[in-house]
Amino acid sequence: STQDYQQADAAHHIHAFLDQKALNAEGARVIVRGDRLNLWDNEGKRYLDGMSGLWCTQLGYGRADLAQAAAAQFAKLPYYNMFFHTTHPPVIELSELLFSLLPAHYSHVIYTNSGSETNEVLIRTVRKFWQVEGKPDKKIMIGRWNGYHGSTLAASALGGMKFMHEMGGVIPDVAHIEEPYWYAKGGDLSPAEFGLQCARQLEDKILELGADRVAGFIAEPFQGAGGMIFPPESYWPEIQRICRKYDVLLCADEVIGGFGRTGEWFAHQHFGFEPDTLSLAKGLTSGYVPMGGLVLSKRIANALVERGGLFAHGLTYSGHPVAAAVAIANIQAIQNEALVPQVKNDSGPYLQSLLREVFSQHPLVGEIQGAGLVAALQFTEDKTTRKRFANENELAWRCRTLGFEEGVIIRSTLGRMIMAPALIANRSELEELVEKTQKAVDRTAREIGV
Ligand code: PLP
Repeated sequence: STQDYQQADAAHHIHAFLDQKALNAEGARVIVRGDRLNLWDNEGKRYLDGMSGLWCTQLGYGRADLAQAAAAQFAKLPYYNMFFHTTHPPVIELSELLFSLLPAHYSHVIYTNSGSETNEVLIRTVRKFWQVEGKPDKKIMIGRWNGYHGSTLAASALGGMKFMHEMGGVIPDVAHIEEPYWYAKGGDLSPAEFGLQCARQLEDKILELGADRVAGFIAEPFQGAGGMIFPPESYWPEIQRICRKYDVLLCADEVIGGFGRTGEWFAHQHFGFEPDTLSLAKGLTSGYVPMGGLVLSKRIANALVERGGLFAHGLTYSGHPVAAAVAIANIQAIQNEALVPQVKNDSGPYLQSLLREVFSQHPLVGEIQGAGLVAALQFTEDKTTRKRFANENELAWRCRTLGFEEGVIIRSTLGRMIMAPALIANRSELEELVEKTQKAVDRTAREIGV
């Protein structure tokens, strides 16, 4: 029974980012099956998954092609490593495919198993690069408050979640600047002015720390876990100019923005800037098996390959053949089904316009942000002054719970409701997503008398 499941789970399993006692009191939902954007729990209730799992199931659930790719590779070569001057066809083919998608100034990738691990590897790779360049003092990474780069020690330090720092997530040689969250922090500035102001904090921070000590700047092209925040248009060009001026590597965390989410293959292409490294995971395999990768520009790769000598780095599962086979099948399906142009030209604009139709006059919603198949609704107490609710976290969490009751999974972060449905979503699935989200938001508004 559900209760048996819940008790057995509670007895042994620590979940992610939750107060375990509160979860145990409520009981975890037991998800047993998926197909396209649909998930079913063990009692047969269906949920429309508006979050692609955790921003990762680009192809939705139940894909026989991915299952077959994994099964075939399991039968042929289930594992081998990259340590003994060895490689294998799936990883070779995957790299070729990946670089056929990427702009020409990237040439190499270091494979990992997750986004957190990718960002750990990033720190060491960037340090190694500056050592090879004869600048070993360039070690400091600058990130952003409320940025998220993973849950391991260095990744949580790079991120700017203060509650994670308080729980031991800090390392030396990491600094932070403000996030470009205009709605909450822009005051009387226009979005364009605020974007420039936020970007120039990077210049101030580099000057404060010394350009000869700053190795790189890491950020998500659009911030995900910290509230799905799209920066003002002025932001990224200015960040890029500053990084180039001080020879600070520009490191884009594409873990949630990559693989078609915004209607471009990678989110930095949507915003029009050119990072030196790309952190990948999640959508690389549609989340079917764990895999990540750190993509390097030719400049970095050349230094490492031609002049770097030994790079003392390696992971047992780097380039895992089954994960690589699934990644190949995943990327090929995204290509064959033309999902990236579909998100750019059809499903993305459709979702964005539906959301604006339904929510632009909604009393609870002050801002709708997004592009392609990612969007956020900002809960707002006073739209004219952009005043946010004092209890916005609880309000959004309540809306998320009501979403579950309505049969839709949307995410709450700070005072924002986030959705990022699978790239395969058709119009009727998007309509269902918006209709059910509307019911959850309306119920939230009624509960607080708005
Ligand atoms: N980077 C970003 C932008 C993320 O959103 C996440 C996870 O949500 C990570 C890194 C960490 O990835 P993982 O959970 O695979 O370690």
